[in-house]
Amino acid sequence: MGPLLRSVARRAALVTLLCVTGLGCARAPSPVHPGVGGSVGVPHGGVLAGGRELPRRGPGWVWLRGDDRHWGLPRFVDAIERAARKVESQRPGGTLSIGDLSVRRGGRLLPHLSHRTGRDVDLLLYMTTLEGAPVQSPGFIHVGADGLAYDEAGKRWLRLDVERTWLLVKALVEDDAARVQWAFASTNLEAILLEWARARGESGETLLRASEILLQPRPGGVHDDHLHVRTACTPEEQALGCEHTGPVRRWIAELDAATPTAPPSTEELLFAILSPIGAPEASAHAERHAAE
Ligand SMILES: [Zn+2]
Repeated sequence: MGPLLRSVARRAALVTLLCVTGLGCARAPSPVHPGVGGSVGVPHGGVLAGGRELPRRGPGWVWLRGDDRHWGLPRFVDAIERAARKVESQRPGGTLSIGDLSVRRGGRLLPHLSHRTGRDVDLLLYMTTLEGAPVQSPGFIHVGADGLAYDEAGKRWLRLDVERTWLLVKALVEDDAARVQWAFASTNLEAILLEWARARGESGETLLRASEILLQPRPGGVHDDHLHVRTACTPEEQALGCEHTGPVRRWIAELDAATPTAPPSTEELLFAILSPIGAPEASAHAERHAAE
């Protein structure tokens, strides 16, 4: 067997080993995108590899619709679960309805422009009856400046559950691993939530973060019926193809600056040796190894 064939055989054996052990398949490089994986590209033009599906229901949350649109970056899905669980533990009885994330492999997801790379989620607003009893959100119903919303399907008026919705925003912005870059919301929603937060004496840092991420996107439709939350790429995700757009949040930048770069994992070292297809330098290295 020549050096090239030996190299190919060795690579195939290692790939098989990684797949069998569950270490590497999700991030296996493709001929088109060697060494790329996770959230690839920008939210309005990219794909998702190795995503995780949010469970249909859990402590404090439920899917709005039973479809295939609940895939996201695993750490982002974890963060959504953590936030919903936290609200549930602080104020039991409400349920967070969760709309679209991405589909399993990402890509175009109508009617959204974004939601393509597993970094976006639509979170419905917590609602109560006019008397204040928590009810599961019937879907995308428009909340006015007075905090009231008409539920067409149920033929009834509902009220924004300001307390739980604020607790959700707070849980997300205070969660370092969530890395929330945006929570798109209408100007009215933003005002209602921040006023509530100030009144209950939230810390300056939490308020500052919330006031930066809550924003009515222009253009992008009035977000008075849900929060559209986006997570920022980690440096490691950027190395794998996650493309950052928009502002870098100060607290996220500080976090990254304070986090020492982790040594490469066994999996990463194995992949480096495997040499992604099309990477000439790494291929030459593998060839030399094979010839030894
Ligand atoms: Zn959205």
